[in-house]
Amino acid sequence: MDIQISKTTNPKAKPAEGDLGFGRFFSDHVFTMDFTAEKGWFDAKIQPYGPFAIDPAAGVFHYGQAMFEGSKAFRGVDGKLRLFRPMAHAERMMVGAPRLCMPTPTAEQMVEACKALVRVDADWVPKSEGTSLYLRPTLIATEGFLGVRPANTYRYFIIASPVGSYYGGNSLKPVRIWVETVEVRAPRGGLGAAKAGANYAASLHAAVKAKKAGYDQVLWLDSSSHELVEEVGTMNLFAYVGNTLVTPPLSDSILAGVTRDSVITLAREQGVKVEERAISVKELKAAHAKGELKEVFGTGTAAVISPVGELAFANNETLKINDGKPGAFGLKLYETITGIQRGTVKDTHGWLMDV
Ligand SMILES: *Cc1c(COP(=O)(O)O)cnc(C)c1O
Repeated sequence: MDIQISKTTNPKAKPAEGDLGFGRFFSDHVFTMDFTAEKGWFDAKIQPYGPFAIDPAAGVFHYGQAMFEGSKAFRGVDGKLRLFRPMAHAERMMVGAPRLCMPTPTAEQMVEACKALVRVDADWVPKSEGTSLYLRPTLIATEGFLGVRPANTYRYFIIASPVGSYYGGNSLKPVRIWVETVEVRAPRGGLGAAKAGANYAASLHAAVKAKKAGYDQVLWLDSSSHELVEEVGTMNLFAYVGNTLVTPPLSDSILAGVTRDSVITLAREQGVKVEERAISVKELKAAHAKGELKEVFGTGTAAVISPVGELAFANNETLKINDGKPGAFGLKLYETITGIQRGTVKDTHGWLMDV
């Protein structure tokens, strides 16, 4: 792939690594590539970060043909820059896009584009523990046309945002979760398995309600019975019940998290039994009553592991999990994954790719 690079003549001041937060700052450049039915993907370029012009009639604005990815570039303790499982992220976009009738570049091209952007913005990869350069590849329909059909033109672009440790310090902060029984994130047969912006639009209302009621996020249940747990916020969900790690099986309403896959792999390696199967709210309550619900946590690229300290139900029932503290098992997974990412734990799975 031939990438035209035009560097900024006006680099921005970099924020202090202690104030990064999540998604508040953007690097100096953006990668873009366009698609037309006639030409395929063309015009790959890296240019100074800034607004770009899109036809107001573009499909992305009207019919929601939009999806994205989220992965990270790390500066290892040896100073070298590496991506974590970039092929898994690119392949997920390739697998998800057909559900929205969208074309994608090849996974190899998407990874090459990520690497090229990180090389140009290498100074934007922070170095303190817990920090990284978050990459946000995005795919949108750009054709200006109001008929309802898949667009004929698309743009793939990547922006990069230096991000801090999700938890500020180093200890994981357990979240309080509202179990949502009315609204759903993604119905069966819907877009839930694709990282589509539409799923996020569907999730905001319940999340805002939960925040107003004093909770951090919602636990999503399945759209037909409202009894099976699906995801927590924008993360995959795990429950450590007895001596078994349980997570809902992948389906068309669950996003196949790369962190989910890393957690399953590492847990099995540590000799922990892992089951990918349906988990009902009833089962969680029963396990809790017997003292067997040791840990519940979410997994995702941003936070890696997010312990759930409390589950709250509409009937005022609450389940306090592990006394509201992060569990030892989730903590160990967090340390292993972030250690691999930083280069202090051996990468035995080939998850890191040099930039
Ligand atoms: C992105 C995302 C996840 C986590 O995926 P990772 O690859 O682990 O970052 C989980 N659930 C939803 C709904 C998501 O959008």
